[in-house]
Amino acid sequence: AKLDGRGTFRFFEPEMDARMQARRRLELDLRQALARREFQLHYQPQLNLESNRLTGCEALLRWRHPERGMISPLDFIPLAEEIGLIVPIGEWVIRQACRDAVTWPAPISIAVNVSPAQFKSERLVETIMSALAGSGLPAHRLEIEITEGVLLHESERTLQILQRLRALGVRVSMDDFGTGYSSLSYLRSFPFDKIKIDRSFVSDLSVKPGGDAIIRAIAGLGKSLGMTTVAEGVETADQMQRIRSEGCTDVQGYLISRPVPADDLMKLLTEHTAQA
Ligand code: C2E
Ligand code: CA
Ligand code: CA
Ligand code: CA
Repeated sequence: AKLDGRGTFRFFEPEMDARMQARRRLELDLRQALARREFQLHYQPQLNLESNRLTGCEALLRWRHPERGMISPLDFIPLAEEIGLIVPIGEWVIRQACRDAVTWPAPISIAVNVSPAQFKSERLVETIMSALAGSGLPAHRLEIEITEGVLLHESERTLQILQRLRALGVRVSMDDFGTGYSSLSYLRSFPFDKIKIDRSFVSDLSVKPGGDAIIRAIAGLGKSLGMTTVAEGVETADQMQRIRSEGCTDVQGYLISRPVPADDLMKLLTEHTAQA
C-alpha cells in the first residue's frame, strides 16, 4: 500500500479496477445479448398437492454467453436493472413466455418475474396487453411474480398498475414471501392471488425447530385470505410431506423438476397429461 497525493491509501485500486473492468465487459456483452439472441427461458413446473396435477410453470431467464457459457440470472439481473436494460429484456421474457405457453398441451398458468424497474417504466401494462393479444394466451393464464422491492416505492402508482393488470384478468403472486421487512403489510394493501413461500423456510424445515409452525402459519394465512400458497425450493420427499401436512396448496422445486428448456417442458407436460 502507498499513499497517493491526497493522503489516501491506494492499496485496493488494482483490485477495484479489475472488478470495474469485469463489470464494464459484462455490461457491454449484456447490451448485445438480446440482439444476438443469447437469452433463453427455462420453465419450472408447480404441482398442486390436492389434485396431484401440474397447475403452472415459472419462466426463469437464462443467458447463454458465447464465451462464458450459461450465466445465472443472479449474476446479470441486478446489473440489467441498474442500467435499465431489464425493461427490454423483461419485455422479451413476457412475449416469449406467452408464445411458448399457448403451445402447451394443457391450459396451465405461466408465471413471469417482473422487477421494480419494469414497474417504473410506464410500459408494463401495454407490454402485457400486447403480448397476450399477439400470442392469443388468455389473460387468466398469465401470472406475474413480484417481490417486496416492487411495492417499496411509489405505492399509489404501483397499486394502480396491479389493479389494471388484475382487471385484465392477469394473476399476481407475491414472491419470496417472508424474506422482506413488511411482507404482511403488503398482503393487506394488495389482494394477491398467490403467496410463494421463500425457499429458505422450506430448507429450514427439518433443520430448525419451529420451521413447521412458520409454514403452517403462512399456509393458514393464505387460506383465510383466499390465496394459493406455493412452497418454493422443495428438494426432498420429507419436505414435501411436511409441506403437505402443514396445508400448503402447491409445491415447486427440484423434487418435482428442475427448470427445463421449453422442449423438455413440452415432453414433461405431454407425459403428465397422458397419465390423467
Ligand atoms: P426466484 O424468482 O425466487 O426463482 C426461484 C429460483 O430458485 C430459481 O433460480 C430456481 O432455479 C431456483 N430453484 C427452484 N427450485 C429449487 C430447488 O429445489 N432448490 C434450489 N436450491 N433452488 C431452486 P434462478 O433460475 O437462478 O433465478 C434466480 C432469481 O433470478 C429468481 O429468483 C428471480 O429473482 C431472478 N429471475 C430469474 N428470471 C428472471 C426474469 O425473467 N426476470 C426477472 N426480473 N428476474 C428473474
Ligand atoms: Ca419468482
Ligand atoms: Ca422466489
Ligand atoms: Ca428470489
